[in-house]
Amino acid sequence: MHATAVPTPSQPAPHGAAYQTVEFDAGLLQRLGKSGPRYTSYPTADRFVEDFGYRDYLHAVAGMRTRGGARPLSLYLHIPFCDTVCYYCACNKVVTRNREKAATYLAYLKREIAMQAALFASTNEVEQLHFGGGTPTYLSDAQMDDLMGHLRRSFRFAPDAAGEFSIEVDPRTVSPERVHTLRRQGFNRISLGVQDFDPEVQRAVNRVQPEMETRAVIDAARAAGFRSVSIDLIYGLPKQTLETMRQTLDKVVAASPDRIAVYHYAHMPHLFKPQRRINEADMPDSETKLLMLQLCIERLADAGYVYIGMDHFARPGDDLAVAQRQGRLHRNFQGYSTHADTDLVACGVSAIGAVGATYSQNVKTLDEYYDLLDQNELPVARGIRLGMDDALRRSLIQKLMCQFEVSIPALEQAFPIVFRDYFAPELARLRQMEDDGLLAIGEEWLTVTMKGRLLIRNICMVFDRYLAVRPEGPRHSQTV
Ligand code: SF4
Repeated sequence: MHATAVPTPSQPAPHGAAYQTVEFDAGLLQRLGKSGPRYTSYPTADRFVEDFGYRDYLHAVAGMRTRGGARPLSLYLHIPFCDTVCYYCACNKVVTRNREKAATYLAYLKREIAMQAALFASTNEVEQLHFGGGTPTYLSDAQMDDLMGHLRRSFRFAPDAAGEFSIEVDPRTVSPERVHTLRRQGFNRISLGVQDFDPEVQRAVNRVQPEMETRAVIDAARAAGFRSVSIDLIYGLPKQTLETMRQTLDKVVAASPDRIAVYHYAHMPHLFKPQRRINEADMPDSETKLLMLQLCIERLADAGYVYIGMDHFARPGDDLAVAQRQGRLHRNFQGYSTHADTDLVACGVSAIGAVGATYSQNVKTLDEYYDLLDQNELPVARGIRLGMDDALRRSLIQKLMCQFEVSIPALEQAFPIVFRDYFAPELARLRQMEDDGLLAIGEEWLTVTMKGRLLIRNICMVFDRYLAVRPEGPRHSQTV
């Protein structure tokens, strides 16, 4: 294995394109890869507390309204149902073929949406909408029509050209006609779960999805005028080899999506029951997995994709790549996003919202969800109110995850601290990483190097105050 350079947006690459590079250093990754959070929030969701409930959420919304400076809104809707279970799954879902369950859920979801809409009445418009799951397309066309109509009556939406309205689609559940319907229903971005195109790998994870079906959905999305098509892949699955990975990547590149996410499969059967059905003997070893990662990085770079960060790649002209170049990339529970500083209103079981200086998460079971809504309470189970230190570290970690650099004077301007004093212990710990060539600590900038980018989580973990209090257990996946 050798070091590999890959284009990413921000500064000039040798060939003159306006991209930076990420460097693959197998030795470093092997030595430093460990389990750690993905920092879609800070503090991370496992630090939320049950003391934070419905009334605290109301308080946060009231505070936001009193300040008068309402931010644009993001909406997240969680549809938890799936027809069948994929063995690698770590999501909160309900596997059922009983469609009645979705009808009941929809009725309650609409109730929650109405309650949230009343709280946010006459505030800003919705700039971002994301449907996740489970399988959002488990809902029928008519149910989706009903839900989208309800949303549009409840909230004011930005025009199609300005808003980012996305849906996760399981290609096994939609026809090309359905894709056109989704576009008409208001979605302008689509993200497809593929994971791997190899039939044997698909059988080993109980997700058989013929390549032709996926291609038909992608073609339909283009014909229907979706602004962005994104594909999710996973490496480290059973029966995957370098050869199957190569073939899958060739097919993905040929399909030419705007964004590609390549996730590392986190095998944690003690936490996620479906994973117990994976035959561990069929899984690639850690050295092969690193080679797979290297292959993905090289192949996607050859095809002209830029490395955004964490597991994400995008075409240079895609909004994510442009936002990163312009320093306005953001990270939230759905991954990277182009809309910074929104309040995130989340509806549905287990959904996580972020309003003002708080995070809150809904209850995780359908029964609890229905019970609380029957009592006219928003189904908040837990959450956290951020103190100054949390907000400071959140801002710093965001910058690292999205831009790979932090301006020390800018942080000192935004928060009442002297960076070098406040973070003296962290800076001492970062010295070892600086010696390893992962980052540079300058007078004014903290800059992650090309080599450090694949280990960005390790760097962020140094600034995570909660890890010092309760070190990482087995809840998180490997950093690479
Ligand atoms: S991976 Fe997605 S489609 Fe598969 S069981 Fe989990 S939530 Fe459902």
